[in-house]
Amino acid sequence: MANKTLGLEKNLYDYLHSVSLREPAILAQLRDETAQHPMSRMQIAPEQGQFMALLVQLMGPKKTLDIGVFTGYSSLVVALALPPEGKVVACDVSEEYTAIARRYWQQAGVADKIKLHIAPALETLDSFIAAGEAGTFDFAFIDADKSNYNNYYERTLQLLRPGGLMAIDNVLQSGRVADPQEQDKVTNTIRAFNQKLHGDPRITISMVPIADGLTLALKLG
Ligand code: CA
Repeated sequence: MANKTLGLEKNLYDYLHSVSLREPAILAQLRDETAQHPMSRMQIAPEQGQFMALLVQLMGPKKTLDIGVFTGYSSLVVALALPPEGKVVACDVSEEYTAIARRYWQQAGVADKIKLHIAPALETLDSFIAAGEAGTFDFAFIDADKSNYNNYYERTLQLLRPGGLMAIDNVLQSGRVADPQEQDKVTNTIRAFNQKLHGDPRITISMVPIADGLTLALKLG
């Protein structure tokens, strides 16, 4: 997992940040704190967060999903970009990591916009489908255990409204997907997943080479 955009020389990456990154102080603080964490590579890149915030601003979503919260950067970046009535439904299994997330959501004044569900995300998503919430979400970010990516994708596709947008993280796996020598389980899972989405007539697709690769999938009506 890469938490900066792959394939850019450091000087070009720094330049890109210097002329485009407008990371709010609260997000920069969260990124600094997360950098001390042993799992800090799970943090999304700031230019990716800013890109997602722009997508959210374009859409003006009321209901969004964040599958895989970690220390809360993606939930927070989306919450800050939402219209006043917008909400984030956040899914994670870790009380420990999300305790950091909650602290920053409070500090940023958006805690009331984010509803955290501590449970396996598939259970949470299935409970929403069972409760009749299919077709009601506008935006979703998928960034959790890769073994369940296809399951998250299928559930999220049901939960999104037609014209709703899904962003799926780590689809380039630090470049391993393109190296035939790499035959580990996660890389092969992501390869199969990418292949499936490429041919899926239910969506419009764009794979964006930002950070570790972000697939955008727009649900067709
Ligand atoms: Ca990720």
